[in-house]
Amino acid sequence: MPHQSSFKPWSPPKILPRDAMVSSLIDQEQHRWNHDLVDQIFMPFEEEQIKNIPLRRSRQEDRVVWHGTKDGCFFVKSAYNQILLEQRQQHSSGVSNFDGVWSRLWRLKIPPKIKHFLWRGIKDTLPVQFNLLRRGIQVCKSCPNCGSWESSMHALISCQGPRELWQQTNISFASNVEYLTSLIILILHDWEEQKIKKFTAISWSIWKACCSRMFEDKVTPPTTQIHNGLLLLDDYEKENGGREIRRQEATSLK
Ligand SMILES: [Zn+2]
Repeated sequence: MPHQSSFKPWSPPKILPRDAMVSSLIDQEQHRWNHDLVDQIFMPFEEEQIKNIPLRRSRQEDRVVWHGTKDGCFFVKSAYNQILLEQRQQHSSGVSNFDGVWSRLWRLKIPPKIKHFLWRGIKDTLPVQFNLLRRGIQVCKSCPNCGSWESSMHALISCQGPRELWQQTNISFASNVEYLTSLIILILHDWEEQKIKKFTAISWSIWKACCSRMFEDKVTPPTTQIHNGLLLLDDYEKENGGREIRRQEATSLK
């Protein structure tokens, strides 16, 4: 993808096999993107990006190119420039091309700590076993509950405990999404606000319960986890609603 810092799409893989090549998305006869297929596979903001990539008339062999120079050849100087550019972009707003998704996240009326948690979920930096291992911290990579590989997605959504917990809410997830990053992006993109808020609050509570179990050996029943998340959200809304009413009253007294 031309605008993503990782160059990889964020839409979860579907329809085509995981090892499919870009050529699978091209209508070779008409020499254009297969719009129907692109629409079915990618989220709208990625559909647009893909369809706007011009296609060459002539077919060429695949080759590895360095994206930092026009001719695709690697120079140390271009790597240095690239690092500076990325640092500048990170300082300016995080990730540039997901304005809709990011602004939706920042605008959500949820406690700041939950917002930060969600941000870490998107960046996949929650300290689950897998991420700790990735950062070179020696831990056992498996889930303390079931012994499976513990990714963020596993800890919050797909391990048996959270899976049963989510069944008790009216929230369900697309079954083809493998990574928490993709899932949260999809949710922020597609769901209505109240449902997003509920998802974020309960996810936060599941995460807190994971931490309590890990560090304090304390088990929190699923119903309590749901209740705690919703209560936190409710308190925040009351507090902020109250503040908004007080602000309006103060304005009308002026
Ligand atoms: Zn598990």
